[in-house]
Amino acid sequence: MTANNTRPENNAYDTVIIGGGPAGLTAGIYNARARAKTILLESPAITSQIAITDSLENYPGFVQPINGFTLIDNLKKQAVHFGLQIQSDQVAALKETNCKEKSCWQINTENNSFQSFSVIIASGARLRNLGVPGEKEFQGRGVSYCATCDGALFRNREITVIGGGDTAIEEALFLTRFATKVTIIHRRDRLRATRILQERARANKKINFELASLVTAIKGKQTVEAVSIRDAKTSQEKDLPCQGVFIFIGYTPNTGFARGIVDLDDKGYILTGPEMTTSAKGIFAAGDCRQKRLRQVVTAAGDGATASWAAQQYVDELKGIAYK
Ligand code: NAP
Repeated sequence: MTANNTRPENNAYDTVIIGGGPAGLTAGIYNARARAKTILLESPAITSQIAITDSLENYPGFVQPINGFTLIDNLKKQAVHFGLQIQSDQVAALKETNCKEKSCWQINTENNSFQSFSVIIASGARLRNLGVPGEKEFQGRGVSYCATCDGALFRNREITVIGGGDTAIEEALFLTRFATKVTIIHRRDRLRATRILQERARANKKINFELASLVTAIKGKQTVEAVSIRDAKTSQEKDLPCQGVFIFIGYTPNTGFARGIVDLDDKGYILTGPEMTTSAKGIFAAGDCRQKRLRQVVTAAGDGATASWAAQQYVDELKGIAYK
């Protein structure tokens, strides 16, 4: 999706935004309205987690739940309407350089190279793997990380969902549309998820819980047939028969390309200041890829707006045209 009236003569920009989720697209809307020369690069390989979320009911201003894909599609349309250039391209590396004798960044992708005075990293995070025997072997044959994509394949089947956070409980509730039984397996004896989700899960007759239970293996022949669990207190093992296993045990940030350029925490999340600055001059970070406590669409969008504002201030000051 490209608005052709904003493309500069060459690949030199005021801001390159990396990532097409709510943080990146919000930054794009704000940058485009500020008439900053901006391109948003979205990975062809990574889908925003929100785009595969069936229903969002805590985004302010919407009484009825919104579909995640629709929200992303609307954000894109809104950004392009204001003139944002969006390109599908995988960022591989960032390098400090000079543009017109001013400090800037070179953004190398698989097929292109861009120069920009500022960069907003909004590359999000991807679901973590569990790392037990059978997980890899049965991917696509019973093991899944996306209820919206694969839930319907398990109509009238039994499913286990692994994890105790908001994602696991929301997705377990969604999966009850298809499955005859959904068992939530969580390693602790209480759930991490928001109370309202816990209440709904407990009230749903199709949902069962195996708490304080560790998954030790996923078993089957051609497809998944059972999950083995170990009781965290007694160490007793048992097999739970099921045909589908959905794994939602948190996220890993997509920040490999930024390692060595900006400071990261021990899990790979980007460290930021209150205005989304990073340890590198001219690089800002927004959304799920940065270290923070509350990862929500609304906080990602807020980060994106702040990062856009801070990047514009930075670029205007660099060019000596800041309005003070
Ligand atoms: P999360 O909050 O990090 O929860 C991950 C869950 O997986 C935790 O219960 C954790 O157990 C468990 N876990 C982690 N590693 C494990 C392992 N190796 N084996 C077994 N269990 C493991 O992740 P999330 O639920 O995906 O949520 C991510 C963020 O998105 C959160 O900030 C969440 O609030 C947000 N979110 C919000 C909504 C919403 O507002 N509607 C929906 C989805 C997600 P412990 O509890 O023991 O650590």
